[in-house]
Amino acid sequence: MHRTHTCGELRIEHSGTDVTLSGWVQRRRDFGALTFIDLRDRYGITQLSFNEEIDKALNDKARSVGREFVIKVQGEVIERSNKNDKMPTGDIEIKVSKFEVLNAALTPPFTIEEETDGGEEIRLKYRYLDLRRNTIQQKLVMRSKLNKAVRDYLNDADFIDVETPYLIKSTPEGARDFVVPSRLNEGQYYALPQSPQTFKQLLMVGGLDKYYQIVKCFRDEDFRADRQPEFTQIDCEMSFVERDDVLNTFEGMIRSVFKDVKNIDLGDIPVIPYDEAIKRFGSDKPDMRFGMELVDIDDVAKGNGFGVFDKAESVVAINVTGGNQFTRKQLDAFTNWVKRPQIGALGLIYCRVNEDGTYKSSVDKFFDQEKLKLWAEKCKSEANDLIFVLSGNAESVRKQMNELRLHIGSELGLRKKDEYKACWVVDFPLVEYDEESDRWHAMHHPFTSPIPADLDKMESNPGAVKANAYDMAINGMEVGGGSIRIHDKALQKRMFDLLGFTEEEAQDQFGFLMNAFEYGAPPHGGIAFGLDRLSAILAGTESIRDVIAFPKNNMGRDIMIDAPAELNSDQKKELGMN
Ligand code: ASP
Repeated sequence: MHRTHTCGELRIEHSGTDVTLSGWVQRRRDFGALTFIDLRDRYGITQLSFNEEIDKALNDKARSVGREFVIKVQGEVIERSNKNDKMPTGDIEIKVSKFEVLNAALTPPFTIEEETDGGEEIRLKYRYLDLRRNTIQQKLVMRSKLNKAVRDYLNDADFIDVETPYLIKSTPEGARDFVVPSRLNEGQYYALPQSPQTFKQLLMVGGLDKYYQIVKCFRDEDFRADRQPEFTQIDCEMSFVERDDVLNTFEGMIRSVFKDVKNIDLGDIPVIPYDEAIKRFGSDKPDMRFGMELVDIDDVAKGNGFGVFDKAESVVAINVTGGNQFTRKQLDAFTNWVKRPQIGALGLIYCRVNEDGTYKSSVDKFFDQEKLKLWAEKCKSEANDLIFVLSGNAESVRKQMNELRLHIGSELGLRKKDEYKACWVVDFPLVEYDEESDRWHAMHHPFTSPIPADLDKMESNPGAVKANAYDMAINGMEVGGGSIRIHDKALQKRMFDLLGFTEEEAQDQFGFLMNAFEYGAPPHGGIAFGLDRLSAILAGTESIRDVIAFPKNNMGRDIMIDAPAELNSDQKKELGMN
């Protein structure tokens, strides 16, 4: 027998019991005649003690093991003289009477502790060692709980878990496909799914009514921080539903996940139209943990002889509660921050709202006290606040202001790690115009239906058509998105026409779906949540790599197994790839 208990479960009540434990040597403290070993497994750490006076051979053996050796010990649980109240097992230790090395270990290239000395590359290369660290294991445990909470909720709601194929023809979700050559069909390729989108819609045509799958998806995107070429979605679809049915169902799911995994009540989840989100936050995934909303101040900013404002398409302000405490140096730092190329503002204007009701701005030359008072009224500023103003092209100003709002929110500690605020954003534009390709592109994907009231604008004014689509954001991060789908062939054809597909292209790529729509497709809609992102949010980590057991680095490489890699010439020949 390798163990009677784990390394995390023995307590003072077990004193006097004979136990067998197995695990890894976390640390050895050698005092010559006395040796202590911290033995670790997934469940915790237990201290082992050896005493030369009791058994010299055993103590010598204990002194010979190194970090990460796998050992098995037998002994008696005794009360410790030197208790450690930071460890759950800190009241006891094992007085070892039998000791076996199950496997020796090389010295690991970094310390396997909460705070490791290893950089990310080395930890990814030796991911199996990194996985031994408690912080990583806890995140995977949490992810596993999340999985269970999702499955419990959806199974209870009568969803069925259906697997869809990985070797398919491309699904257009706006990224490039990974392709797999077919040996038996030389010169032909499968694509790995960017999502099971068309399959889940076909499942609805097939009468399955409510589908879900926790599924790997693949997107060959350019490398961006914190993107993984393969990632996991909670993919769902429902028949005979309208938008609010979907929102209610999945609001329920997210609530139940937060309750099960973190024992947190998510509170109200507001539904915000896209246009309103842009107006109030400059973002379609607003962080709702704090206010500091955007205020349009065109009418009190323009026409006062200040050229920068007068020339601008849009002048936007935010009020920072208590911001008058910022020093000159801090204001300069904010200015430099918005002027960085990533943000791209030309400058930042401020107005202090003093305790005594006076104002002090960086544009006092153009704006007297009366005029600054109008700014303050618009921004609902109070004594000791500070107003920041950006101006320029309407779209860029809102984007910049969104970034600044988030930055200040972080600086002021308003984006608390343990606070969670979700929102839905709805009524996205159906399509967006891409100058480069001179075409309309689907903002979500080509199967998303327009909202019925906008149907007649599809040809005459496509940019004004709203989609029956929705996203959920938590703490400023998009965690899910979906739509009510087109379920009728004629409308799907209008959509493909709008996106510039020829009749043949549409037939060739999506003939199977259009044909299916001719055999009685029910109205349907669905959503997909990013499981990696959700896990990261629940685990309170910035990076999705932390919640993936074997992640790729930010060049899309798995540096542990060294992939991607070349094929040998025989394999290539077989695949007709010479
Ligand atoms: N297939 C979509 C995506 O992966 C989600 C959906 O529309 O259900 O983003």
